[in-house]
Amino acid sequence: MYNHKNIETSIEILGNLVQYPVLGGESNTSIAGYITDYLKKNKISYSTVPNEKGDKMSIHCRIGPNADGGIILSGHTDVVPTEGQPWTKPDFEITRSNGRLYSRGTTDMKGFLACCLTMVPHLKKIPLSKPVYLAFSYDEEVGCLAGPTLIKHIKETYEEKPRFAIIGEPTSMKTIIAEKGVAFFKTQVYGQAAHSSQVRRSVSAIEEATYLTQWLLNKMDGFIAEGNIDNRFDPSYTTIHIGKIKGGTAVNIVADYCEFYWDVRNIPSDSIEKIERSFQEFCLERIREKKKSFPAFNIITTAEFPIVPGLDTPKTDEVVKLVNSFTGKESFETVAFASEAGQFSKEGFSAVLCGPGSMEQGHKADEYIEITEMNKCLHFLDELVSWCKNDKIK
Ligand SMILES: [Zn+2]
Repeated sequence: MYNHKNIETSIEILGNLVQYPVLGGESNTSIAGYITDYLKKNKISYSTVPNEKGDKMSIHCRIGPNADGGIILSGHTDVVPTEGQPWTKPDFEITRSNGRLYSRGTTDMKGFLACCLTMVPHLKKIPLSKPVYLAFSYDEEVGCLAGPTLIKHIKETYEEKPRFAIIGEPTSMKTIIAEKGVAFFKTQVYGQAAHSSQVRRSVSAIEEATYLTQWLLNKMDGFIAEGNIDNRFDPSYTTIHIGKIKGGTAVNIVADYCEFYWDVRNIPSDSIEKIERSFQEFCLERIREKKKSFPAFNIITTAEFPIVPGLDTPKTDEVVKLVNSFTGKESFETVAFASEAGQFSKEGFSAVLCGPGSMEQGHKADEYIEITEMNKCLHFLDELVSWCKNDKIK
């Protein structure tokens, strides 16, 4: 693919963006300041959606008329840590080598942000019949925490109704129509300490935790046995996984406390809410049973962050046709990772993922994006802009 005329500008912007080492969970005012300065310089009015503490903010703006049916380009400003990874290149500085751009965040997903920002001054000059929106969030990497407030703010800010949302996560510029949802939970079990010889005269938090974890694993096996299968995903069923467990004091003491962490990644036909509800019902049964003899017995399950809904956009949806017309490919694939796409979809936007780079290189040491991927994305955005001009699919 030939170089896009703005490729060097986009690489320069990417070089600026990666120098803000904002990790998920941290304040993003530095990188947000860079982006808002850039928008100001280009005379684009924008809105910020700060968190309660005021140390993080999402940013959104509209370029073009206040007409219904526009396209939102969505991305996140945070990245995952590099600590403990064997980096051979600087982790928060661009290294250009062999057609690749190395640094944390290049593929996930500042490459996309850089391409979007590159387009801004050009977009400004063109008379558009449909608007383009930029929507940049924070804390995506720690549970898509800012997505819901950003989306709500977008709906409240604009009188017109944007119709499409393209989430520029690294998909090698393929159109992704479905992804699993995800939720992380912590379950705490409070038992009663005693000498181990007295185990049946007390209540072991570890023993109770094993019943609870077994219930969760049976639930997953039940889905498979009942044929709740969606072959678009690998694995093709809803998974429930216990990732961490801690409890007890010594081999001869009945454990008074045990906690475990578990996650659910659901195919669209299963519901995380339903799984959580039936688990809570089972816990309530155990509490009722045990409280009769041990009033202090308790089980508390809390979500680590609000459930991130999956994405299940029908392949016949207009957004698929539209985005495929921009990429020039006939694709509708699925991915295993979760993103803000499901949150946009839940709020009524036709959403797909499509962005430069591959998740193969995301979250790893020596993360990189191929310059050809940046080129592809800039060409993609050209197509998008010409659609916004003419409002017609070629
Ligand atoms: Zn990402």
